[in-house]
Amino acid sequence: MRPPVLARLGFQAGMAPVLGAHLASPRHAYLFLGPPGSGKEEWATAFAAALVCPDGGCGECGDCRSALAGTHPDVNLFANRDGSMSVDDARRAIRYASLSPSGSRFRVVVLEEFENIGRVAPVLLKAIEEPPSSTVYVLVASTVGKEMATIASRCVRVDFPPVDVDEIEAFLVSRGADPGEAETAARLCGGSLAKAQELLAGGLLARRLSLWRSAARERPRSGFELIRIVGELTGFVDDVIAERKRAGEAGLAELRERVAKGAANRGAIKDAEADLARELRWLRRSEFELGFSIMLGEMHPALAGAGDPSAAYQAHSRLQERVGAAMRRLAAGVSEVTVLGALLGGQP
Ligand SMILES: [Zn+2]
Repeated sequence: MRPPVLARLGFQAGMAPVLGAHLASPRHAYLFLGPPGSGKEEWATAFAAALVCPDGGCGECGDCRSALAGTHPDVNLFANRDGSMSVDDARRAIRYASLSPSGSRFRVVVLEEFENIGRVAPVLLKAIEEPPSSTVYVLVASTVGKEMATIASRCVRVDFPPVDVDEIEAFLVSRGADPGEAETAARLCGGSLAKAQELLAGGLLARRLSLWRSAARERPRSGFELIRIVGELTGFVDDVIAERKRAGEAGLAELRERVAKGAANRGAIKDAEADLARELRWLRRSEFELGFSIMLGEMHPALAGAGDPSAAYQAHSRLQERVGAAMRRLAAGVSEVTVLGALLGGQP
């Protein structure tokens, strides 16, 4: 069975028959497992829509539409960004999962970034093992971490491979990307739809590529040159962040006006400020992460991968390990200048 809501996603087409076969009598828990950007979150949402739709995923009805929009009362998503899920969050998810569906056949509880579940795992284990018969858990993870191994063994595992390059390209074009840029981004993203979209973000693909690639080619011969190159790269990142910050501050100003008129709660300002600060930190990290991966791919062509998709993905994983090591140094407080200098100097 290939219900429209699954067939329509436009990437990982092979999942439609796999998941479609489970719709008539779903098991109590699924584990959607795949590398970052492999589309497993979007598929979890579409699967949830198919489960709550009276027609098994028509893609048109109110149930389908609200499930896809994240507003359906019988579909609840618990994100766990950077392992932030608390014991209280887990208890909320369990309480929600214990309720009967309000009108649909099933209640679907999606738990994202489950690999970082950590100390909350024991709280969830029993609930996921024995939910009410009308509840379906969908756990979404990039890896099976050691804390979640027991839970994973109780789930139907659905493996998501890296997304096919042609599928990514077609998807980007369907979302309005320039075909040439879509092709480049699809080739560079290592099978990650999310990374392909980040590469294109803000219409900055050409600028990103030329800056980070030329930095990789210009092996600096002196400390002075190194400082100049590093300055150009961090300057570019500063510009991207400043742009987003301007947009965010305009939104904050609007919110302050609404609070002044009594149309919004004062506490909302503090929340919005914290959200913006978090987003800017995240954006800065992700901009460097992209840049490092473009730069290292250029410096070490063997790592950039070419030819058949699975070899390309292997090569890309090795590249991502190097990028990950650089990102961990940044997270540990090493300065951007030092980390960039070390990468450009060819040190690990
Ligand atoms: Zn429907």
